[in-house]
Amino acid sequence: MTTTQEPRTADELKDLAERAGRELEDASALEILRWAARTFGRRFCVTSSMEDAVVAHLASRAMPGVDVVFLDTGYHFPETIGTRDAVEAVMDVNVITLTPRQTVAEQDAQYGPKLHDRDPDLCCFLRKVKPLEEGLRGYDAWATGLRRDESPTRADTPVVGWDAKRQKVKVSPIARWTQDDVDAYVAEHGVLTNPLLMDGYASIGCAPCTRRVLEGEDARAGRWAGRAKTECGLHG
Ligand code: SF4
Repeated sequence: MTTTQEPRTADELKDLAERAGRELEDASALEILRWAARTFGRRFCVTSSMEDAVVAHLASRAMPGVDVVFLDTGYHFPETIGTRDAVEAVMDVNVITLTPRQTVAEQDAQYGPKLHDRDPDLCCFLRKVKPLEEGLRGYDAWATGLRRDESPTRADTPVVGWDAKRQKVKVSPIARWTQDDVDAYVAEHGVLTNPLLMDGYASIGCAPCTRRVLEGEDARAGRWAGRAKTECGLHG
């Protein structure tokens, strides 16, 4: 899809989001993404943490060549960067890598080393929230891989909602999926996944803030383990 869409006002986008959230609640992930492609054209992108490429794969079916935005915080596991490179090489998507204004070394020089241990909210703001805010400026809508079953904080995720913080439409096409649905899609379509998923990790973020999950823990229990923090601020 290469149609150029006129920018809409925030009020128009909010109305669109709220109506679509109601109308598409029971639609399939592919139908939701086809709606986003029709409605927003090139002003729509997918964000991916490169935990797996399920939403990027679905989106490439709805909109070949779709922009897939990846935040390279400078703290990723090598396996995550490798997954990003493989997605770029084999899928019909346009991978866009966003980076923070400062390298890790520059941040260490200004704030001291291991800011993630002392003030993870600030570290996430500098390395995730701010770069994404800047990177999404050219889009009206963005898609995420959020799922309701991942954690209590995500249980109410709408399939299409209004991102008031960024004034954009937020599309979560697999919000209603379970882990079994994800596994079935990966198996059916041979979708790329991060090798760490085979090594005890269930949710993959930056290396210093991610550990393997234990039996019975929810998928995101390995993120900022031992801290009250559960989200990086991208989805708050
Ligand atoms: Fe920093 Fe950890 Fe947030 Fe990554 S997840 S940006 S290392 S605090």
